[in-house]
Amino acid sequence: MQFIPVKPITQPMDLDLYAQMQTLMANAVTARAEVMLFTLTGQGMRVQLQIDGVMHDREVFDPNAGAMLMNAFKMLCWIDYTRRVPRQDGSLKVKFRAEKYSCEVINQLGKGLERLLFKITGKYTAPPERLDEAGMNPLVFTKLKEFMFDPVFVVSSAPPKAGYSTTFNCTVGSVDRFLKNVVVIEDARASETEIANVSVTTYDSESKQTPVDVLTSVARTYPDVIAVRDFTNAETVDFLVTQPKQERIVIGGIAARDAVEALVRVLALKVDADKFIATVGAVVNSRIIRKLCSECKEAYTPPPQLIQQLGIPRGRVASFYRPAAPKMPAEVRQKMIDQQIPIICTACQGIGYRGRTGLYEVLMVDDQLRKAMKKTTKVDELRKVAQKSGFRAFLEEGVMLAARGITSIQEVLRVLKG
Ligand SMILES: [Zn+2]
Repeated sequence: MQFIPVKPITQPMDLDLYAQMQTLMANAVTARAEVMLFTLTGQGMRVQLQIDGVMHDREVFDPNAGAMLMNAFKMLCWIDYTRRVPRQDGSLKVKFRAEKYSCEVINQLGKGLERLLFKITGKYTAPPERLDEAGMNPLVFTKLKEFMFDPVFVVSSAPPKAGYSTTFNCTVGSVDRFLKNVVVIEDARASETEIANVSVTTYDSESKQTPVDVLTSVARTYPDVIAVRDFTNAETVDFLVTQPKQERIVIGGIAARDAVEALVRVLALKVDADKFIATVGAVVNSRIIRKLCSECKEAYTPPPQLIQQLGIPRGRVASFYRPAAPKMPAEVRQKMIDQQIPIICTACQGIGYRGRTGLYEVLMVDDQLRKAMKKTTKVDELRKVAQKSGFRAFLEEGVMLAARGITSIQEVLRVLKG
């Protein structure tokens, strides 16, 4: 474990302390943490790691040791430990086993409490580029990709701050970016496009601009695909619905908890409903879900009550999977117990999950649904209509993912509740 500060540190550092810091950071990147958080109070300093979106408690240091560690890390990250201000920012680069990681570091001072947060970026945090790489079922993906070959109107949606931008980026990333000329339109204040082979046009929300203010000039450049990160208002949608007739593919984003709700939310912007209903072709919605650790998962027969509760037809699901203690010969296990070595899976460090994927709803809008949308904006009623035409909602997709052993049914229920 090698720390590479932005500028060389001139002050000498205690070697034991330095070794402790190396261990903490090595543990964080080994666990594939996106965030390492130190919280120092009068009781001590708590270390937490955010792994695959979930916080886990780790070491606790006494107040003195904690303060020393925190100050030493601040020094390394070029955060002035003599200043007591509400917020300071720093950074740090790290090299571990030939991999490089960079950390954005934030120091926060509150009442009786200090935090040091490391946002870690490395190979394991690299975002996926297409929906199939982000976990969409390959068959569903192929169908959607073929659908997006022609001029169509596609809505990309997810709950805000829970995979919204990844879903949008991957939906845009799934059109043929190398043959088609793609323009992404987004707020200059929240520009987050990291998609290769697309051009980006921004509008300025602070001077009250919306996507529609740049759409006319973008359309004049004859793009094949117009992708608007956030529909924002009715005017934007009303402009965009005219575009498939100009031989253009439109992808637009709106925050929503599921695919059917996304349609209702677009209508709630007070768009020209008839035109939108006639034009919208498909909706994608997603949830981020943790994958079971492939090293330690085990199959089990789900209890009949659970199957019934989930509304799964009898005989459809033979087994679900769950995290389990690592398998080993009985004598090895006994030896470990005798030597007080914790029996946990080394691949996931006993968490049971390793890595994340996406859970998707892909709603193809057909004439039945169009008819229903003209009559009602009740999400439940519209969902029933869609399901009659073969639409698979989150729970059904989740059950399939759990039956394939990619995740656990508990994890499916956790993300759908949130
Ligand atoms: Zn494991």
